[in-house]
Amino acid sequence: MRLAAVEERMSAMVETSGRRRLRGYALPAVSVGILALLTLCLAWRNLSAAPVTSDYQKWEAIGKGAAEESLVLLKKAGHAARKGDLIALTNAGHAEINGASTEGALDGLAHATGVSRGRNTLVEVHAATWDRPWFAVYDKGSGFCAYLEVNPVTAAAMTTVPKRLPADFFGVCAVERIDAKHLESHVDEFKAKLDKKFFGGNEFRIVTMANAIAEGAPVSVVRAFEFHDHYCPGVTSGILMAGYLKKHFAPGAGGHYFVYAVDPWCKEDALLVLLNATPGKRGYAATYPADADKARRVPEAKDVCNLVFRQNPETKQWDGLALAFQWAETGCPKTGNGLLDRLCADLWYLKRMDRPEDFVKVVKTLELPEGVNPKDWARPGVDPLEQLGLLQPVQSSEPAAAGS
Ligand SMILES: [Zn+2]
Repeated sequence: MRLAAVEERMSAMVETSGRRRLRGYALPAVSVGILALLTLCLAWRNLSAAPVTSDYQKWEAIGKGAAEESLVLLKKAGHAARKGDLIALTNAGHAEINGASTEGALDGLAHATGVSRGRNTLVEVHAATWDRPWFAVYDKGSGFCAYLEVNPVTAAAMTTVPKRLPADFFGVCAVERIDAKHLESHVDEFKAKLDKKFFGGNEFRIVTMANAIAEGAPVSVVRAFEFHDHYCPGVTSGILMAGYLKKHFAPGAGGHYFVYAVDPWCKEDALLVLLNATPGKRGYAATYPADADKARRVPEAKDVCNLVFRQNPETKQWDGLALAFQWAETGCPKTGNGLLDRLCADLWYLKRMDRPEDFVKVVKTLELPEGVNPKDWARPGVDPLEQLGLLQPVQSSEPAAAGS
């Protein structure tokens, strides 16, 4: 680390000066003054670099260091960010280093940037425990975003917590302008940068989420894309479906849903989060149909993607909806770049979150027979669409028996 190297050099200078004095060389008064100052600095640094006593203390310092370095990077890009304009995204709290939690980084990051969960400006991006921790600080005032990635070896070797982390503590440091308006008019330049993975391969998730929050994405949208770990039109369709159910098919007091995905895609992650219907709580099932399975559907059920059931708390009977999602013509230009095309569609749908009826279609209303639970239709080998009469009968390949 650079700080350690400086410290070593400074120690060597002090040592050398000591040897000189012993040999009887008189140093000029100015040099003695400088050396005294350096010695004081060293002593101060040693006093201020507290030993690491907990994962929380260490990662709180790393989160704070990431925030401070981000502000330096944003300033170098030509814009001193205002605290109220900042949005921070990180996978800290999910990612681990050598089995240690990185959660303390959230507090350090929030404290130094002023972002918070309550203001919807601190995004905790879902990740696997083995993913490398990273931080992104977006300044919606300038459109610039700083990105820092933790070097796991450096972080694991950290035994003291200095007042300020050395600038080279982070393995990857970058700053780029990523606001949608700028990207729209710099497509080729952006594509070339994207090939170099300027945010360590996290470009898609950071660019889509940061722009959505800057455009005022409501907390339900943020909860859904945090879990999905990126913001895409696919997860948008799930958010709109959840919005439709809330308005037109509410479960009633104390009630809950059972969701069956008969054509799963990104939307399932939004439905899991926003309806709190999960497989673990026996509220969600999914099957992945092949083309041949889809070909068996009756024309009416061709686009059905989810069956959603709710239970009447008094009669205990279940009713449901067979839903389809109708994609809209957004008018977004086809740039030939998946990130930019999806970003444009994301922001288009974001403006229409209060109109789920425009996109969510009820193909059929369902009434389960008395005593039948939707879980009964999620058993191995049972196809709920067959139970609902939405599949064509299998054509028998056996020749018809004579006389039959
Ligand atoms: Zn997705």
